[in-house]
Amino acid sequence: MSNNVNNHTDQPSSSSSGPFDLLLFDLDGTLYDHACGYEDHIHANIFKFMVEAKGGKFDAIHSIEQAQQVWTPIFAKYNLTKRGLMGEGYEFDGTAYDTFIRKGAAQFIQQPDPELRSFLQSLPQRKIIFTNAPETSAHEILQLLGVADQFEAVLGSDFMGNDVCKPERAAFDKVLEFLQPPVVVPPHRICYFEDSFKNLLAGKELGMATVFVTSATLHKEGRTQEDLAQFDAVVERKVGASLRESMPRLWN
Ligand SMILES: [Mg+2]
Repeated sequence: MSNNVNNHTDQPSSSSSGPFDLLLFDLDGTLYDHACGYEDHIHANIFKFMVEAKGGKFDAIHSIEQAQQVWTPIFAKYNLTKRGLMGEGYEFDGTAYDTFIRKGAAQFIQQPDPELRSFLQSLPQRKIIFTNAPETSAHEILQLLGVADQFEAVLGSDFMGNDVCKPERAAFDKVLEFLQPPVVVPPHRICYFEDSFKNLLAGKELGMATVFVTSATLHKEGRTQEDLAQFDAVVERKVGASLRESMPRLWN
């Protein structure tokens, strides 16, 4: 060997403990079906917040339509509305914003998901949530789904410090750094589950195995089925047992 550069991507592991040490899960649209309406509700609340907030630059926004027009380029630039508004000089309380936009989860996630629970229980690896949502909301949703005890940690917007978010490399670096002690977890020993194309691509570029969850987000991002062929597996609506066929090595 002339150097220490390894191309881990797509190399089957010879380890007796299976190909993956850790499973990294997005939350919204990945653990539960986007079709339940909660993410649309969050989106509507973002525009409502922008209309209802008072002072400074918010005073120029009088309607939902205006809010949407202001929001589109901000989201494109920052990937996270809260950070984008702050970055563009809108002044507001971040915690009050989180509470406002993500309120009412129980109306949409009305009962625990035993299928999701048995899927997670069947996988022996460490499991971590990696979401751009605030931790308080993530914990609430995991409780509603009945799977909170299945995860070792929830890494959300508080963890990332509200100055980075997926799909930025810095957000992934923070997660990888968090995982390292006491054992080293290289990216190729991680399987990452996501319904955002650009987030998942960022994980793939780091060498993670990738599972794409199809949802309305796919169409919003203008992606086609062909674009998805680069991922290790694709699953419909939310993660679940169908992966036994499309990605059996998760259970090796
Ligand atoms: Mg998502």
